[in-house]
Amino acid sequence: MSGYSTKREITFDCGHKWHFSSPWPKLGDTLWCMSCRRERRVISAPDEWKIRCTNCTYNRGFGAAKINSEIAIGKHRRNHPGHIVKQFNGRELVRIFGTQDVQQQTELF
Ligand SMILES: [Zn+2]
Ligand SMILES: [Zn+2]
Repeated sequence: MSGYSTKREITFDCGHKWHFSSPWPKLGDTLWCMSCRRERRVISAPDEWKIRCTNCTYNRGFGAAKINSEIAIGKHRRNHPGHIVKQFNGRELVRIFGTQDVQQQTELF
């Protein structure tokens, strides 16, 4: 994860907020709250957008900025026509760019 060390604000069920570097906690994780001095559950964690190309080694994380991930996908696919790029939110595969079924989606680029 070189050059990518964004901090995220994570909210616990006690209301305390802490900033974490990657890997960020996920919703529902149990973590130590330093204010409460006990374990708390994560009730708010920004989604992490990641993209990974299936045709080359290109992959990147974008923090909570979904639009940046889509811009990067657009650029990568312009530079490398035919590359199929997967877009993830956390560990969930959200969209695959470069396949037929994407054509119906709003084309931003
Ligand atoms: Zn707390
Ligand atoms: Zn590629």
